[in-house]
Amino acid sequence: MHPFSLERPRDLSAALALRAQAGRNDAPAEYIAGGTDMVQLLQENVRRPDRLVSLAGLLDNRIELTTQGLRLGAAATMAEVAAHPEVAVQFPVIAEALLNSASPQVRNQATMGGNLLQRTRCPYFRDTGYSACNKRTPGSGCAAIDGENRWHAVLGGGEHCIAAHASDLAVALVALDAVVQVRGRQGERTLALTELHRLPGTTPHLETVLQPSEVITAIVVPAHPVARRSHYLKIRDRASFEFAVVSAAVALELQGDGRIRQARVALGGVGTKPWRLPRVEAALAGSSLAPEALRQAASIAAQGAQGRGHNDFKIELMQRAIVRAAETAGARA
Ligand SMILES: Cc1cc2nc3c(=O)[nH]c(=O)nc-3n(C[C@H](O)[C@H](O)[C@H](O)COP(=O)(O)OP(=O)(O)OC[C@H]3O[C@@H](n4cnc5c(N)ncnc54)[C@H](O)[C@@H]3O)c2cc1C
Ligand code: SF4
Repeated sequence: MHPFSLERPRDLSAALALRAQAGRNDAPAEYIAGGTDMVQLLQENVRRPDRLVSLAGLLDNRIELTTQGLRLGAAATMAEVAAHPEVAVQFPVIAEALLNSASPQVRNQATMGGNLLQRTRCPYFRDTGYSACNKRTPGSGCAAIDGENRWHAVLGGGEHCIAAHASDLAVALVALDAVVQVRGRQGERTLALTELHRLPGTTPHLETVLQPSEVITAIVVPAHPVARRSHYLKIRDRASFEFAVVSAAVALELQGDGRIRQARVALGGVGTKPWRLPRVEAALAGSSLAPEALRQAASIAAQGAQGRGHNDFKIELMQRAIVRAAETAGARA
């Protein structure tokens, strides 16, 4: 492990002054929250910051529901949010995404902010025995493209990186138009969650639009008629304690005649970032919940998808996941 100093700032301003930066391996200072992802990567020598800046005690963990929507303090744990009774009733897609993530032990420790900024599970990124990884070492190549790429993305990738984004929570939040509140040395700003993560392009080592010093302070999910009738479907290699092969977050508002008035759809396990599907949503609006109608709309998700061999099956599977998740969401009271 690369030696580092652990900074425990007395308040958030002192933490921001240390200019830590999430989402890139060459940052000399990085934040640590619950540590469930960071410590693994330090141990494996994947991350080598000189300084770790602890956020412990500096951010709030409040879970607040108002008529405007849901606010999650960045320090709220996955377990706290998943167990909140109103989140489960009013935003089931969020509770389900969390309960289908990791293990109870990890969920007790891991925070909202850390979850959104966890790094990819691409095995070539996480194993320094492989030298070719543009995300870890810019310009070194991508071992996954011609390697074992069963876990990798079919949407949003390119010749420089095809790593799938790992967070289940982020997929549910993207479907619900969530925003993140960010604070840095220059002040506060609010970002749509769809804008937080970058596509890899030619710079896969830059994962987010966060600037040095910036921390996520809270997530806000606006109140919306689709939120209550929502579902997170996660397909994985084993029933628990496993990342998504494919996942679908679907939220629906139905008309009096049972047809879909409006829909929100996002996919996980298949995109280089949490993948919202506005064209599928537009096709679902006005549709019935009949399987063939859902399937027709879901087929639009495949537009632009590119398999790399081992992951070709995801293109079919993600369409089926949308249909199944829509059926489950539509059947909710
Ligand atoms: C065994 C195991 C299984 C898992 N399975 C799943 C799964 O199925 N689905 C899933 O979605 N996740 C899964 N995870 C990942 C887990 O959800 C993340 O490790 C966790 O959410 C990270 O939160 P943390 O608070 O521990 O973050 P840390 O590890 O402390 O930090 C993660 C990153 O976020 C940055 N950071 C943290 N908080 C902030 C903030 N407020 N502002 C700016 N930067 C910040 C850190 O600098 C770091 O880059 C699994 C993890 C493990 C260990
Ligand atoms: S897919 Fe991305 S993270 Fe994985 S080896 Fe290629 S460049 Fe690295």
